[in-house]
Amino acid sequence: MKLFSKLTILLLALLLVMGASCTAKEKKAQASPAEEPVDEDAIRIASIVVSQLPDSMHDGILNNMDAFKADLAKVLEEESRFFIIADKSHLLREDYNPGELVSLDGKGIKVNKKGMKLEKVTFEALKKMLDASAKEGLSLMVSSAYRDYKYQVGLYNYYISKYGKEKTDTFSAPPGASQHQLGTVVDFNDVENTFAGTREEKWLTENAWKYGFSLSFPKGYEDVTGYSWESWHFRYVTRSGAEFQKKYFDNIQHYMLLFLDSYRN
Ligand SMILES: [Zn+2]
Repeated sequence: MKLFSKLTILLLALLLVMGASCTAKEKKAQASPAEEPVDEDAIRIASIVVSQLPDSMHDGILNNMDAFKADLAKVLEEESRFFIIADKSHLLREDYNPGELVSLDGKGIKVNKKGMKLEKVTFEALKKMLDASAKEGLSLMVSSAYRDYKYQVGLYNYYISKYGKEKTDTFSAPPGASQHQLGTVVDFNDVENTFAGTREEKWLTENAWKYGFSLSFPKGYEDVTGYSWESWHFRYVTRSGAEFQKKYFDNIQHYMLLFLDSYRN
């Protein structure tokens, strides 16, 4: 074979290899959208199977699919434990692991008793929120935080002995059904609805979402959440979660949690 044709073959072979590697790169680039955690079909299915979602909410999701997908992707980047449903029909196991717990003692925040703990990320967000509220001259005190399963057994049984089961079930969670077992929940001040309308409560209503907190049991949603209105009970759902809840779920935490639970499963 002449040198010229040998060179041509070499050149052709080189071009082929380069072409193949480009195609591989293109394929990889094309594959990445499929690796996105957001699945449009799953969104459609989840928004339908969550039968409790009001029609307006369902339509709001389907009519804003692109924005919804982008916002959902942000929420899915957060740890899933911040969105676990804990209620009377979604019981936590006795050995549920809330992650690293930190003590609230000696951290420069007001507490009504010693020995309370919170999940670490939740605590850091809470500290920022309380520092900001203190700068506004407000007085927020933590009255309850992480409660383990055994504590809830004792509390629930105490209430039953005092008020009977029917009454107790309207305001107290059976063991496994309390959000407090997640370690991501804080009760403020008097743990009474006298808290509603105070400057502190109004400030939380306006600002808690900026720190990733949302009200778990709002007024008028007793049939949805299964619990009476608790103006003092806030759960950390991450900043992305709190924004997601405001934007698509009328700021009702339980609707967002139901949707995410259905989407994931
Ligand atoms: Zn509470």
